[in-house]
Amino acid sequence: MLNYTVDAEGIATLEWDYPDKSQNILNNASLTTFVEACRMALADSFVRGLLICSAKKDFIAGGDLGELAGVTDAAAFHAAIVDWRAFMRSLELGGKPVAAALNGSALGGGMELALAFHYRVAADNPKARFGFPEVTLGLLPGAGGTQRLPRLIGMQAAAPLLMEGKRITAAEALKIGMIHAVVAVGEERQAARKWLLDVIASGAKPLQPWDTKGFKIPGGGPGTPHGMQMFMAANAMLREKTFDNYPAPKHILSCIYEGLGTDFDTGLAIEARYFTNLVISPVSKNMIRSLFFGMQDANKLASRPAGVPPQKYSKIGMLGAGMMGAGIAMATVAAGIAVVLLDTTMDAAQKGKDYARAQWAKQVARGRLTQEAMDALLLRIHPTADYADLKGCELVIEAVFEKREIKADVTQKAEVVIGNDAIFASNTSTLPITGLAEASVRPANFIGLHFFSPAEKMPLVEIIVGKATSDATLARAMDFVRAIGKTPIVVNDSRGFYTSRVFGTYVSEGMVLLEEGVPPALIDKAGLIAGMPVGPLALADEISIELVHKIGQQTRADLGAAFVERAADRITAKMVAELGRLGRKSGAGFYDYPADGPKHLWPGLAQHFPQKLGAGDTAMIGLEEIIERLILVQSVESVRCLEEQVLRAPIDADVGAILGWGYPPFRGGPVGWLHTLGLPAAVVALDRLAAIHGPRFAAPKILRDMAASGERFYA
Ligand code: NAD
Repeated sequence: MLNYTVDAEGIATLEWDYPDKSQNILNNASLTTFVEACRMALADSFVRGLLICSAKKDFIAGGDLGELAGVTDAAAFHAAIVDWRAFMRSLELGGKPVAAALNGSALGGGMELALAFHYRVAADNPKARFGFPEVTLGLLPGAGGTQRLPRLIGMQAAAPLLMEGKRITAAEALKIGMIHAVVAVGEERQAARKWLLDVIASGAKPLQPWDTKGFKIPGGGPGTPHGMQMFMAANAMLREKTFDNYPAPKHILSCIYEGLGTDFDTGLAIEARYFTNLVISPVSKNMIRSLFFGMQDANKLASRPAGVPPQKYSKIGMLGAGMMGAGIAMATVAAGIAVVLLDTTMDAAQKGKDYARAQWAKQVARGRLTQEAMDALLLRIHPTADYADLKGCELVIEAVFEKREIKADVTQKAEVVIGNDAIFASNTSTLPITGLAEASVRPANFIGLHFFSPAEKMPLVEIIVGKATSDATLARAMDFVRAIGKTPIVVNDSRGFYTSRVFGTYVSEGMVLLEEGVPPALIDKAGLIAGMPVGPLALADEISIELVHKIGQQTRADLGAAFVERAADRITAKMVAELGRLGRKSGAGFYDYPADGPKHLWPGLAQHFPQKLGAGDTAMIGLEEIIERLILVQSVESVRCLEEQVLRAPIDADVGAILGWGYPPFRGGPVGWLHTLGLPAAVVALDRLAAIHGPRFAAPKILRDMAASGERFYA
């Protein structure tokens, strides 16, 4: 855990080396060991200085999230923090100089620990990052970070680091004064040691700035005119951005405001309380479960079928060089895999490559990509109209028009050329995979790889397993998704699969509200306040009202007598067929898109979808109820997907929603939100909504059963 040595000159070296892990992490066990070693060094009269360093490639990665996620006893947790804080103070005030040699990244609790030392020197390691990412998981730097950092570098510089979780390089950390020096890689221990010996030789008592007489906060404290201004603006901006859905950044701001208005030790006491509050809050539990553990398991391919050798990819085929095809090609070549980009004509294929060129050129212009790197990427895209070029591809993905016959045709043409072992994947957004696989001569090798637009950027791929898809095909398709750096969720075949099906309910509920006479501005604002990235009507415009209409028509045709018409079918039919308003790409949808200004709601909506207002011209339905409907409609459909075994695990629902359509992480995900409410309470809410609005809110049997038996989706 920790290697402890003392040299002839009285420098104790405490080298972190967490057993059986690639990173050092802070938890009960490692901290206890570290505290004991420090106490030993402080008590040993031969030891004159402490050098803290790491045997791993990084310094300390941060706190143990598993341990934090399991905390339920606020009082016990708070007491532990108070002890830990007292230890850090004893180190700062112990009279012996303490220096950190940061060979690699120091993040979260690791960086906070380093801030409690008198000196920090970092290696000039281009991979190293320094910062406080706690806020991204609903937490705050609770080991003194909110108090030490602003006292060290000023509130203005500290606030964005603490509140946004930005990670900076060694050079940046040096520039703002978060570390004292940067030296060549491999020289950091020596540099820290030299500093220790110099301080010892000078006879000066090592003290932190905040423990020296006459200390002033750089740039002034919260009570100064500058401080007042900063907090007024920061508070307002935070509320505008988060609608107070995320307590962590607000608590961080409070820690700075309240803590820097008082003495250092009281500031630490204030921080400990805010931190405890966050650690036991459902928001941090939700964010840690979905964003950290859920995503980590998905990226480790925890659900990959066992016993299938890993598949490496060197060349894939992309059928259709449209928006999706070009985007998937970009993501693929960026991972070093060659792409044969095929379309009906060479011109059309070339257009896809041109799209990639234009996107990369923007990155070159912004300095994010070099011209040479861009040229190398382009060389890996081979545009063609000739199926023979697909020879040797380990995988072919089709993203041609959403028409069964066309998809069948390209499947057959490609299969003639590619090897028997190659995988064929469809990027269809709506057509069931099992049906599409009928066109294939080897349906066991046929699978769905559903990318999101823009495919070069969006992190999620929904992998769809058809009836005939083999485990080996699934495992190899998962390998591809990881090879191009995306996160997979695996679902079984169904109409709309998981993502389109559940995400569609949000858009659809927005249209029900519109038909009920709720003002459109209120509908979209409610979506934002609920934490969704875009309101449901604005979203319909983005994905195109015409597309929503077409999918509805296709469903009507497929289901025949079983089809139940919804508000979305009536509204999109009217918008498209009667009013010619197809969505953003036609410049007219629920919104108008003037060339010379920002978009705004189309005034004609009031005439075509009359608003029903109550007394004082207020809406008939309250904001809270709209939010409840927009959120629970997604939850209930997700549980149906679990019940029908479209989804294989609740965490897939949550990770898929957050990455796929920007579902608000503070709720955990559509299933995580039911867990947060508590299943019995969720059933009561759904029963109430179903009684008013009908069966789309009806609680699925598994939910009712779980609520009755006290079962939970998550521990
Ligand atoms: P698009 O219209 O931009 O591109 C389709 C491309 O396929 C065109 O370049 C067309 O020339 C080509 N094509 C048509 N017939 C062909 C054939 N027989 N052989 C070779 N190429 C042919 O469409 P898109 O938005 O890229 O969508 C493609 C597929 O991806 C569809 O199945 C769609 O449902 C699915 N999808 C789209 C999105 C999205 O947001 N646009 C998201 C996920 C999945």
